[in-house]
Amino acid sequence: MMETSDIKYTRHRENMVRKQIEARGIRDQRVLDAMRKVPRHLFVGEALIEQAYGDFPLPIGEQQTISQPYIVAEMTQALALSENDRVLEIGTGSGYQAAVLAEIADRVYTVERIHSLFVKTRKLFDRLRYYNILTRFSDGTLGWEEEAPFDAIIVTAGSPKIPEPLIHQLAPGGRLVIPVGDRFTQEMLKICKDEKGIRESNMGGCRFVKLIGEHGWSKVAGE
Ligand code: SAH
Repeated sequence: MMETSDIKYTRHRENMVRKQIEARGIRDQRVLDAMRKVPRHLFVGEALIEQAYGDFPLPIGEQQTISQPYIVAEMTQALALSENDRVLEIGTGSGYQAAVLAEIADRVYTVERIHSLFVKTRKLFDRLRYYNILTRFSDGTLGWEEEAPFDAIIVTAGSPKIPEPLIHQLAPGGRLVIPVGDRFTQEMLKICKDEKGIRESNMGGCRFVKLIGEHGWSKVAGE
């Protein structure tokens, strides 16, 4: 729901898109439009509202982070989405990436393994009327079998390898974007599935929090 004070944030958003995203070469108009629209400041805690449009990731609690705006734009562009696509996201977190996807695609299925984030973000989607986002509390490294196949899959946490179920749940012609590497640094991989099989390309280095689950990192002790 829009309040009048949001005029200020609309201006912040415009600056963010111009200086951080267009300036670095993102050209997909659907991505630029979506990021001009989604109120990123509502996806962070109140104490961080004024920093929400900065050129960096921010903490969202539970030792997790909302990605830097440019990374969201780059990953979304790599998915090459169209309006009829069904997208699976692993790692709902703040919900910001899912909202950007939901502005472009037909339906977004998003999975989160931390219950408090799952509950909080589910409420935010309702409040912002993102009715085309479906949420689930579970281990996303297993995908979402009942709703597969997906035209696009995005993993927003770093994994030691590509979880096998996600490859299986990708439709023919589907695109998967995932950071793969060790716990400190990863490479952003894009996997495309076609009749001939799987094609993989490397989009470059990045750093994400850990993907924890059956086909990711094992559960951290004391969690
Ligand atoms: N896309 C989010 C990024 C959140 S950080 C955003 O826009 O804010 C990554 C998230 O992935 C964290 O919330 C973390 O709890 C979650 N995560 C890690 N492993 C997961 C798994 N196996 N299944 C689902 N979510 C997972």
